[in-house]
Amino acid sequence: MNDSDIALRLSAWWEAHARDLPWRFGRATPWGVLVSEVMSQQTQMSRVVPYWQEWMNRWPDARALAAAPKAEVITAWGRLGYPRRALRLQECARVVSEEYSDELPHTYDALIALPGIGDYTASAVLSFAFGQRVAVIDTNIRRVLSRVFTGVESRGGSASPAERALANRMLPESVKRSVTWNQSVMELGAVICTAKSPLCDICPIASGCAFLKADRPGLGERRTRPRQRFQGTDRQVRGLVLAALRELPAHETLARKNVASIWKDQVQLDACIASLDDDGLVEMLPDGSLRLPH
Ligand code: SF4
Repeated sequence: MNDSDIALRLSAWWEAHARDLPWRFGRATPWGVLVSEVMSQQTQMSRVVPYWQEWMNRWPDARALAAAPKAEVITAWGRLGYPRRALRLQECARVVSEEYSDELPHTYDALIALPGIGDYTASAVLSFAFGQRVAVIDTNIRRVLSRVFTGVESRGGSASPAERALANRMLPESVKRSVTWNQSVMELGAVICTAKSPLCDICPIASGCAFLKADRPGLGERRTRPRQRFQGTDRQVRGLVLAALRELPAHETLARKNVASIWKDQVQLDACIASLDDDGLVEMLPDGSLRLPH
C-alpha cells in the first residue's frame, strides 16, 4: 500500500465512520469550531458535546461571549475542567469582537496571537473551519503518523522537528484532501489507533502500517507522565470551591463559615482559594466570603 492508497483508504473510512459531532461537516461557524477545539483540549470530545451545544445556544458568537458576565461563563464551563480555559476563551472573544469585527482572522499569525490560542488550535481552525492546507499536529496525529510511516511510537512531550517534518511531508497537496487527511488521521488516533490498545484488527490501513508489520514494538511501554492522583489534589479542592459557588443563586456570596466547610485542610483550602483568586476565577471579599467574579 503506497502513501496515496493510505490517504484514499483513510478518506473512505472517514466518510463512513466519522463521529457525528455537531461542529463537524460545515454545521458550525468558525467561532463554533474554535470553541469546540478549546473545550476538547483536555476533555474527551464525547463529553464536550452537551457543553458545546448549550454554550453555543447561549453565546453563538464572539461578541455575545465577550459581553457575558464572568460568573455565567465560569458556571457554564461546568465540569469541563481547567476552568481558566473559560476565561481565556472569553478574552479571546473580546479581541475577536473588538479588533476583528466578530470574525475570526484567517491567518496563522493572527490566530496564534489571540489569547489562549496555540499552534494546534490555530492550525485546526485554519484546516477545519477555513479549509486551508495546513498540517494539524496533535498527540493523536503524531502517534498515527509515527506508527504508520516510521514503525515506532512517537515520544511524549512537544512535537519534535522530525514529527513536524513528517506531518508536512504526508499532507496531501490538494487543499480539500488535506482537510480530510487531518480529520481522518486525527479520528483514527482517537477511536482506532489509540495509545494503549490500538484496534489493528479493524484498522482500515493495517496493511500499510509499518508499526504493525514490525509487530508493534514497545506498545504500551512508552513513558508517559504518571497519571496524577486526583483525590486530595489542589485541582480537586479548586473544583469543589467552584462547584459550591456555581450552586449559589446569581450574585450571592458564600459566607466564610460555609467556605471553611468545603475542605478539612484549611491551609490547602486557603492556598487554593488564593490561586483561584489569582486566576480571576473567584473574588474574595474582606469578610472572608467568596463569590464568582462579576
Ligand atoms: S494497524 Fe494498528 S498501529 Fe497501525 S495504524 Fe492501524 S491501529 Fe494503528
